[in-house]
Amino acid sequence: MAATRPAWSDDDVEAFRDLARAFLEKECAPHEERWAEQQHVDREIWNKAGELGLLCPSIPTEYGGGGGTFALEAVLAEEQARALAPSLGTAVHSTIVAHYVNAYGTEEQKRRWLPRLASGELVGAVAMTEPGTGSDLQNVKTKAIRQGDEYVLDGSKTFISNGLHANLVVTVAKTDPENAAKGISLVVVETDGLAGFTRGRVLKKIGQHGQDTAELFFDGVRVPAANLLGTEEGQGFIQLMQQLPQERLVLAVAAVTAIEVTLEHTLAYTKERHAFGKPVFAFQNTKFKLAEVATTAKIARVFVDDCIAKHLAGELDVATASMAKWWTTQMQCDVADECLQFFGGYGYMAEYPISRLYTDARIQKIYGGTNEIMKEIISRFL
Ligand SMILES: Cc1cc2nc3c(=O)[nH]c(=O)nc-3n(C[C@H](O)[C@H](O)[C@H](O)COP(=O)(O)OP(=O)(O)OC[C@H]3O[C@@H](n4cnc5c(N)ncnc54)[C@H](O)[C@@H]3O)c2cc1C
Repeated sequence: MAATRPAWSDDDVEAFRDLARAFLEKECAPHEERWAEQQHVDREIWNKAGELGLLCPSIPTEYGGGGGTFALEAVLAEEQARALAPSLGTAVHSTIVAHYVNAYGTEEQKRRWLPRLASGELVGAVAMTEPGTGSDLQNVKTKAIRQGDEYVLDGSKTFISNGLHANLVVTVAKTDPENAAKGISLVVVETDGLAGFTRGRVLKKIGQHGQDTAELFFDGVRVPAANLLGTEEGQGFIQLMQQLPQERLVLAVAAVTAIEVTLEHTLAYTKERHAFGKPVFAFQNTKFKLAEVATTAKIARVFVDDCIAKHLAGELDVATASMAKWWTTQMQCDVADECLQFFGGYGYMAEYPISRLYTDARIQKIYGGTNEIMKEIISRFL
């Protein structure tokens, strides 16, 4: 399907897209197989991305960012999905972590962390999930207790994206363990040489093999009190809720692009593969199914483009962002399943991109808030 320039884009955004595409095709896609085997990207790729201005593109230039808007984050997510090069965790790093710092950090905190995130000197992660607590975020057990000029952190986190390389971890912790949501704060942990901080193994997953997803452990970790994000304890839950629509939207952007890419691969294959003396595409079942997929792709694209335009105007509400997240990721999984079928046995072979589109899709319904939680949120506004 020919990609036309979305209404929310302009020449600068498209120039950034060209830059991102060239980088992903040259520096990432050729290494994806090796990264999948080692279960993480090479550390240097973060610095290369930083040198090119691909990290923190929507952070103000005075803090080392690109000075653009969310449109740049969106095209990067699109191009990663298009290039089948999803392993570099820029969505977490730039779209989420840098924006927590930018939105809630003090001037000193922004100057301390944002330029180093933009250059790739720091790799960002956000650590919410714990072995015993995922969806029920108010129930996190990790503690950050103030002692003099420091916070002392104890607890463990799991499934943390960029967990192996991250050296700046926005950590969700209870500064007041007696309280639920009101006891939660975000504490920024710079991990290099930090006593008491350890990483577990990089977790083996069924998809997204090149992404480093890891456990993190905090055992009496001491950080300066100045690392509390913002100036007031107990703001963490609100800060998370305010930023999550952007996180959910970027997942929807990746989902709709993956749907389009899946359709493109399947059209190419079914037009070339023959059975019973004709292309697989010529069977009515194939044509009808792919007509349905094309319709889904179109509806998803129109919806997500509208969400992006609303977000750029500061008008994307929590319920609509949740709708975009659950619906597009559900469609992504459905489409990947339907389309893989047309590849027959080849669809089950790891060397065929369709198999990666299928396995990589599955997590989309789970992270960033499960799709059940999305529906729970939407229902609150009904
Ligand atoms: C590859 C990967 C990357 C990830 N990256 C990160 C990261 O960078 N940072 C981070 O903090 N976390 C990350 N996560 C964790 C992810 O966000 C959680 O797995 C997710 O939020 C669900 O939490 P859980 O696994 O504990 O499931 P649970 O919360 O135990 O949920 C289990 C099931 O119960 C359902 N459920 C729970 N509550 C309700 C309810 N109220 N109503 C209806 N159904 C409900 C859920 O939808 C789910 O189906 C990642 C996970 C993976 C697998």
